[in-house]
Amino acid sequence: MNDSVLADSDKKFIWHPFTQMKGWAEEKPIIIKEGRGCFLKESSGRWYLDAVSSLWVNIHGHRKKEIDDAIIAQLGSIAHSTLLGLSNGPAIVYAEKLIQLTSRSFYGLAPRLSKVFYSDNGSTAVEVALKMAFQYWTHKGEKKRHSFLSLKNGYHGDTLGAVSVGGIDIFHDTFKPLLFKTFKAPAPFCYRCELGKGPSVCSLACLNTAGEILKEHKNEIAAVIVEPLVQAAGGMLVWPEGYLKGIRELCDRYDVLLIADEVATGFGRTGKMFACEHESVVPDIMCLSKGITNGYMPLAVTLSTDGIYDAFLGEYAELKTFFHGHSYTGNPLACAAAGACIDIFEKENTLEELQPKIKLLEEKLSEISELQAIGNVRNKGMMAGIELVKDKKSKTPYPWEDKMGWKVAGKAREKGVLMRPLGNVLVVMPPLSISADNLSYLMDTIKKSIISVTV
Ligand SMILES: *Cc1c(COP(=O)(O)O)cnc(C)c1O
Repeated sequence: MNDSVLADSDKKFIWHPFTQMKGWAEEKPIIIKEGRGCFLKESSGRWYLDAVSSLWVNIHGHRKKEIDDAIIAQLGSIAHSTLLGLSNGPAIVYAEKLIQLTSRSFYGLAPRLSKVFYSDNGSTAVEVALKMAFQYWTHKGEKKRHSFLSLKNGYHGDTLGAVSVGGIDIFHDTFKPLLFKTFKAPAPFCYRCELGKGPSVCSLACLNTAGEILKEHKNEIAAVIVEPLVQAAGGMLVWPEGYLKGIRELCDRYDVLLIADEVATGFGRTGKMFACEHESVVPDIMCLSKGITNGYMPLAVTLSTDGIYDAFLGEYAELKTFFHGHSYTGNPLACAAAGACIDIFEKENTLEELQPKIKLLEEKLSEISELQAIGNVRNKGMMAGIELVKDKKSKTPYPWEDKMGWKVAGKAREKGVLMRPLGNVLVVMPPLSISADNLSYLMDTIKKSIISVTV
């Protein structure tokens, strides 16, 4: 099929996610046909630098030989078989490899993550975590723990449980009548502090609010769920130091579980393998997806401690079983890809190689922060947000209907860079394998695009 036939068929048959299809129908879609490293080629033959890692999933680049080979080798045996009542080699091997990885990452710290529950995307990994935490407490004889504490501006996926703990009004408000009740604490977002405080003078006042909610409602709350260190979809909101550790301490004090949703931050994104490592915090439950297979196949895991797992053990008739599962749970092809993805971290010293690139990113961000239209830049490792503002001094945002983020992205696209902003926040999240030269080119292109749209 040639380009324009494909474009017509796309408009005829596909309903795209998070997309106003009326606008889509009026534009010429970019149809991706090939990838190499951090570049994507559209069907007309033009190459683009991918600033958002195919929606945050790509870590080591496209067409990574070791991962291609792992999938091809697995195809020679079997593509899929179920984990319901059966097991398979790749799922077993990967679970062990992942537990070894988290054991190294969280060495010497408690609790210990020791069990792997498979699913196939970030939202379901979160659903599993919520149901697991809830059911854990019922087994402990605490039947009133129906709720969760989550943060404003949080994002945990698009299924209804995940939306219930979400905190982004523009995505989540529509579905309010369908959601279960949760408690919301302020996001530790210093640039626009909800409590009107300034960083370094506030002593983390937002943490006190979370503490007050937990103190008052601890008997109704099964778990606190957070995106550790960076609230990604909420606008790349980077937390002040100490907040995550404070949350862990509150969970311990009030005997509530901590769920770390590392779907976006896991697998090296923040400069360490897991974001929780930055504050020596181990969650009771951890969700991983996005980077897990280097963006090759849908796969997710929910990790838990022995303490949680053991609470589900009992006689068949006691009905303590964890009643949850998916058709593609533990898919062998995806698990083979995921194993190869971890091996590359070791073989290529990905995290060490990343450190100078994070420095370079920070230098470029600081240049960009000087621009008149930029209110705030923020990053943790290779995850960054650049917030456009109409008025720098008063921090007045551009009206969201102006689509300023998209206007900058449109300019960048003309210059060969693909971006996907979050409202007025430009997202910089290229594959960790991006070269320093390409990273420089990316950041310079973003800077030029901002200038050409805002002055
Ligand atoms: C993307 C994301 C999810 C949802 O993952 P899907 O695979 O899109 O369902 C959940 N939590 C966080 C933190 C995410 O960034």
